[in-house]
Amino acid sequence: MTKPNQLNFDTRAIHAGQEPDPLTGAVVTPIIHATTFVQDGIDKNRGFVYSRSGNPTRLTVEACLADLESAKTAFAFPTGLSAAATILECVDAGAHIVAHADLYGGIHRLLNDVRTRSAGHQVTFVDFADTDAVAGVVNEKTTLLWYETPSNPMLKIVDIAAISQIAKSVGAMSVCDNTFSSPYLQRPLELGVDIVMHSATKFLSGHSDLMAGVAAVSASAPDGVAERLKLMQNATGAVLSAMDSSLLLRSVKTLPVRMERHCSNAKKITEHLLDNQTRYGITSVRYPGLPDHPGHDVAARQMRDFGSMISLYVDGGLQRLEQVMQRSHLFQFAVSLGGVESLIQHPASLTHKTVPKEKRDAEGVTDDLIRLSVGIEDASDLIADIKQAFG
Ligand SMILES: *Cc1c(COP(=O)(O)O)cnc(C)c1O
Repeated sequence: MTKPNQLNFDTRAIHAGQEPDPLTGAVVTPIIHATTFVQDGIDKNRGFVYSRSGNPTRLTVEACLADLESAKTAFAFPTGLSAAATILECVDAGAHIVAHADLYGGIHRLLNDVRTRSAGHQVTFVDFADTDAVAGVVNEKTTLLWYETPSNPMLKIVDIAAISQIAKSVGAMSVCDNTFSSPYLQRPLELGVDIVMHSATKFLSGHSDLMAGVAAVSASAPDGVAERLKLMQNATGAVLSAMDSSLLLRSVKTLPVRMERHCSNAKKITEHLLDNQTRYGITSVRYPGLPDHPGHDVAARQMRDFGSMISLYVDGGLQRLEQVMQRSHLFQFAVSLGGVESLIQHPASLTHKTVPKEKRDAEGVTDDLIRLSVGIEDASDLIADIKQAFG
């Protein structure tokens, strides 16, 4: 068979890391539930000892994800947050970390409320869309830079190559949370990032029925990083189960076709929202595909397409917002994103509720902001739903 990494992305999504089962010829990777493996002798086994330290089904999905992210190696975790927490376990106590101000709430909490206390990490938050601002706060003591692009919910775009340079200039590692893009749209390791992380709960799993996380390490990351992460994963026990590994492996096979539809639907919906902006009482639309989005040029350079997240500011106060969300049917009123079904949510009262109001307002996460996660339903049905909800 042709080596998977010589094939194109869409083919690799289906085949990377996978061969027919040597025992049965099964085309699909078997789910190995066993927690322990027979040893052929002292220091002699068939590659497996105990499922926390290595499970065949998990290893297969890890190999597939490593291939898709152009990584040296990847690890699969039970949630995105456990992937993030395990990456942070690799960092020594007291480290200086520079993180994106517009960060996923759970990771903000992990850094700011948990690790500052349990590991004495010193965290500086800065707007990563402003490359000069990042350059201004890093120093030789900085160990780690942490950001996501596009960010949530402001959809800010971070110049990945420029941030990688800044990290290297002070000898720090950089971590990019690639959840909003997936490797189909953007591969940060190819732009100099050391570790990519995912909430695989979102686009990678894609069906709102699976929680998982991924950390993928670059071949050009400092020596020993991948080994250390593997050790920390085993030491803290954050491993994806065999059943969930199989579900993730299956989900990733359709990632390219799902992403293509996600992106084309989001484009059509953005166009429709702009065409009807006044009638719908929409003050502004944020979507990286729009030429007037502040990060549009960088996004066009580093992403294959612009994703399926749209944020909008809506007139008429909370009552109108409530009405719009209650009237939306295909767009279901729920948090999360990246599933086949479209969702609508209100960041100020849901995902960003724990962020103090002044900070929320300063970041643009005001009470009139709505975030759409556009699914892969028929675009005209989605537009009809928007018409009756906003009209
Ligand atoms: C959801 C999410 C996470 C957290 O992942 P879980 O799977 O919910 O633990 C991290 N980063 C981003 C950008 C997310 O959207």
